[in-house]
Amino acid sequence: MIHFVGAGCGAADLITVRGQRLLSEADVIIYAGSLVNPKLLDGKKEGCSVYNSAEMTLEEVLSVMYDAEKQGLTTIRLHTGDPCLYGAIREQMDALDAHGIAYDYTPGVSSFCGAAAALKMEYTLPGVSQSVVITRMAGRTPVPERESVRAFAAHKATMVLFLSTGLLEQTQEELIAGGYDPETPAAIVYKATWPDERTYVCTVSSLAHCAKENGVKKTALIIVGDTVAQSGYARSELYNPTFATEFRPAKE
Ligand code: SAH
Repeated sequence: MIHFVGAGCGAADLITVRGQRLLSEADVIIYAGSLVNPKLLDGKKEGCSVYNSAEMTLEEVLSVMYDAEKQGLTTIRLHTGDPCLYGAIREQMDALDAHGIAYDYTPGVSSFCGAAAALKMEYTLPGVSQSVVITRMAGRTPVPERESVRAFAAHKATMVLFLSTGLLEQTQEELIAGGYDPETPAAIVYKATWPDERTYVCTVSSLAHCAKENGVKKTALIIVGDTVAQSGYARSELYNPTFATEFRPAKE
């Protein structure tokens, strides 16, 4: 059996209770060493074999899984954040399907959630934005043209950019060309929830400068949109006394 597990985005105690239990029972752990907190391996059982996927190809990862399966062992594939975002898990699951190997999937706390926590921020403020665009600049992996940062910028919604910290000059140009005012608030969150987490609030037009000035080159998320200011919003209807819900009558 293979368990895909989201490790959470940094702090070792942000893994789910289920993920932690599975880790403590695993015979083999293949973890994404570039971004998974190695402290998570402290709870592994004795004799557990550990592989760092940052130094491996897909074929090598699969070969470890097939070997473990042949021996009747339990394998954890530990992905950073939640595996559903930029996790390259589909190709692994398809290969396991082709080999008739069973697997399951335990979610994790994605870094876009960790970044909101770091900024003490709500991404969806009534009257400001009710949508979050999760995207990235094109890098070695292309992004379909219809999903370009410029195209999404037209909505001026809250936007969270993964994998784009090395491309901030182009990112800010695209954001402005697409529709964000250059003065729109923006934030850079470096290593959200890790002990060395750092947050910077700037504007769309100063993103590249802010990252350079603070030496942020990778392991960061860019958050853009009027919600970053965390002001000018309308109060919630759900908790409005004049609004009745299934659980609470309206108050006069
Ligand atoms: N599946 C992961 C994302 C993997 S892609 C998740 O759900 O978070 C790797 C990118 O995620 C990094 O380049 C960076 O942009 C972002 N990232 C991952 N962990 C981060 C963290 N703790 N703080 C800020 N950004 C992070």
